Amino acid sequence: MLSAAHYTTAVYAALCEVGRLPSSALEQFGEDGSRMEMIGGELSPGVESTSGSLGQTVSVGIGRAIARRARGSTGRIWVLISDGELQEGQTWEALQVAAHHGLGNLTVILDANGLQVDGPMSAIVDVEPIAEKVRAFGWSVAEIDGHDLPSIDRALAETAQDRPRFVIARTTPWQGIPSLQARYPNSLHFIRFREGEAAAALEDLHLTSIVA
Ligand SMILES: [Mg+2]
Repeated sequence: MLSAAHYTTAVYAALCEVGRLPSSALEQFGEDGSRMEMIGGELSPGVESTSGSLGQTVSVGIGRAIARRARGSTGRIWVLISDGELQEGQTWEALQVAAHHGLGNLTVILDANGLQVDGPMSAIVDVEPIAEKVRAFGWSVAEIDGHDLPSIDRALAETAQDRPRFVIARTTPWQGIPSLQARYPNSLHFIRFREGEAAAALEDLHLTSIVA
């Protein structure tokens, strides 16, 4: 099950990795008329439900997790959300409901990059301390470096039978591209490169093209 909005880039890449999409499909990303939409829609590959307005995805995941448990299915529901979604009331209602139902088959991964569309989280509505709050809601909580793959593996492997799992992945939005850091604290939600900057950024990432 995939319910995707802004994270479709990761979803498409994962679908390519498991052979459900040819890697050539990435070349159509964001093109007019393409199903490889920047914000996942009903026709986007692998997307079964959309999650915009934002803040609805944990609720969708809860419904799926309860249904899975009711029919005796194994497996987990994985939900990837942004820290900006913690500024929306529905997310907190959902966190409360998931703990109430003891959904041990649900994992939420939070991309805690400290930014939302209008700027730094702390300048809009500060949601810290996230770990303490979510733990108080009854979840099993881990806080990790979101750029460290072994840490991600370990945090996702750990589950609790009787409570949902919440992994706070601390990230920086300019990871791997130092030139973007100079723009902070202006929002990096939408990034337009000036002439030559895109090529330099790809070089920083050790790529020659987006689909390399
Ligand atoms: Mg964010």
